[in-house]
Parts: sequence; C-alpha cells; structure tokens
Amino acid sequence: MIPFLDLRAINAPYDAEFQEKFAAFLEKGWYILGDEVRLFEEEFAAYCGTKYGIGTANGLDALRMILEGYKILGKLAEGDEVLVASNTYIATILGIQQAGLVPVLVEADATTYNFDFTDLQQKLTPKTKVIMPTHLYGQLADMERVSAFAKANSLLVVTDSAQSHGAMNAQGKRSGSLGDASGFSFYPTKNLGALGDGGVITTNDKALAEVIRSYRNYGFKERYVSAYRGINSRLDEVQALFLRIKLRDLDTANDRRRAIAKRYLQEIQNPKLILPEWKGDDSHVFHLFVIRCTTRDHLRTYLTEQGVGTIIHYPIPPHQQEALLEYAHLSFPVTEQIHKEVISIPLSPVMDDATVAEVISILNNY
Ligand SMILES: *Cc1c(COP(=O)(O)O)cnc(C)c1O
Repeated sequence: MIPFLDLRAINAPYDAEFQEKFAAFLEKGWYILGDEVRLFEEEFAAYCGTKYGIGTANGLDALRMILEGYKILGKLAEGDEVLVASNTYIATILGIQQAGLVPVLVEADATTYNFDFTDLQQKLTPKTKVIMPTHLYGQLADMERVSAFAKANSLLVVTDSAQSHGAMNAQGKRSGSLGDASGFSFYPTKNLGALGDGGVITTNDKALAEVIRSYRNYGFKERYVSAYRGINSRLDEVQALFLRIKLRDLDTANDRRRAIAKRYLQEIQNPKLILPEWKGDDSHVFHLFVIRCTTRDHLRTYLTEQGVGTIIHYPIPPHQQEALLEYAHLSFPVTEQIHKEVISIPLSPVMDDATVAEVISILNNY
C-alpha cells in the first residue's frame, strides 16, 4: 500500500528534538505568545524576505485578518470586491466573505491552474479593490502579470500562499514577499506543516503588521486596552516550537519534492493522462502533484485497487458548493472541467525512489 501522504513518516525524524524542546517548554510555563511564536515569526519572515511575520491560529484567519487589517487602516471598506480564482480552495473565498468583502470569481486557466487573464480583465468593476491569487498546488501565480494588473487598476495584492511555502521566482523572491501581504497555513499536510493548526501573515507594511498583531489578540493595543473589535487567532506556542525546527529543512524537503516531480514528468508516459506544466525552476514547490484524466473516477478506482492512495483537490468548485448558493447561477467551464478531471497522486519528501518508480509503473499500465 502506497499512502497518499504519510504524515507520521514526515514528522518522525524530528521526534527527539520535538521532545527535547517540548520538555523545555514545559519547564518554562509560558503558554501564549511567548518566545517561540516571536522567534518563529522573525525566522519565517526572514525566510520569505519580508520585514514582518504575524502568527495566526490557521490559514483561513490569516487571509481574513489581512483584509480586516486593511479595513481598519481605511484602505478597504465593507462591500469592496476581491478578484479570486474560481478554482481555489474554499478557504480563500470564506476568508474574503468573513472580512465583509465580496469575492468575485475569475475563470481558471487550464495549464497554469491560475487566473484566466482575459476573464480577470472582464471582472474588474469600480468596486474592485484587491486581487487575491492563490499559488495553487505549490506553483507561483504569474505575479509579474498580477502586479502589473494591480498597479494599472490601483488594487492591493494579497496572496493565498497556503500551498507554496518556499516557492521562489526567477529573481529569488519567495512566496510571501510577492504581494502587499500574504497568508500561509501550517495545516499538517502543507509543505511546512505543524502538528496541529497554525498560520502566519507576511508583509513589509509596518502599519498593517501592527494592526493585525493587535487584531489577532482581541484588538488590544496593550493588555486589556482595546483599540479594535478583534478576534482571538494566535499561533500556538507549541506549534511555533515545532515549526521552528521544521523550517530549517523546508528547502531540502522542497528540493526532494521537485526531484520526485521531475521523475514523474519524465517517466509517466500515458496518453490518457495530462501532467502539470513546470518550468523546471524553483517557482513550484509541488505541494501537490495533480494530474488530469477524462476518466478520473475510473482511474481512481484502478489506483485504489493497485494500492495507490489518491485525493481529489477538489471535487466541487466553490460556485457549486451548497455553502455558496449566491454563486450557483455562474458558469466557469474550465474550472468545472478541472474539478471533474483532477486527481492528486502521492508526492512527499519521505517517498523513496522505489515507491516513486512503482507509482510511475502503475500509472503507465493504466
Ligand atoms: C490550507 C489552505 C487554506 C486554509 O488553511 P487552514 O489552516 O486550513 O485554515 C487556505 N487556502 C489554501 C489554498 C489552502 O490550501
């Protein structure tokens, strides 16, 4: 049996260090917003190449709080529109709605899985204030084009970086430093995963960082003195401790992901399967290796029979979700086709070469 993802195997190498640092944490007795969170925020921001990092309880809150922060600063107002990919994970859209803004869905491109730029242009209205690309599956969106579009239309650029920890553009700038602010998740399956929930916001905007730092902690500007009607969404001290240890190996883990992806791209040769596009550089960190097949459900059954675990990212597009009925009348043919055809195959830094070869041979025999 080849599991889709073996989280235990990913975290096992760190057991001894986790236990050692956890013992020190127990001794110390400081549980909320302590040194581990502060140091992780500094280290992760430095890794991304931004001035500020603000730990959050999860990725959804990170996205939401960026927008709430801009509202407090007067840069956004209730009802402003946010351009977002129609094939993104539901959290991107919920984060926008929870901040009182309006997600405007944009058709996807069938090769990049990001914006269809023709549709993007058409979705622009006088109320559009933000563009929010998702670096889906670990691949950076075309940020040069996004930034040019944002500049031409005076939009803020907020990136959903939850699947792209460490991805780097040709100029060596990392995911998290490519917009005005970015939200990350440390959900255990992510390229940098905690042993529970967690998230972070990265930005170079000092005013925004200060507002969010306060907003995530009841809006306190100092203890028990409320400046804003904030929420409670803090990164947990224990998760920060684990994340600091794992951050050191993120580049190595991403290199291993890319090495596996390279083999998949070279050696999976089956006309029934569409493989992802990749420039071969560091702009992709292969959070997921997503292939497409017109007989996807049949393929999935075959892979299950052959002992290969798979997951569909994602089976239902946001505009067809019961939770988002206000979008049900819309049609996004490319996004809908993507959701019918995609299937994610096993790819993780702990997969060995023999297992990779087995997956390749099983797929070539389909
Ligand atoms: C995981 C993820 C999120 C949300 O992260 P949580 O920590 O689960 O709240 C948001 N956007 C994308 C694209 C994700 O993959």
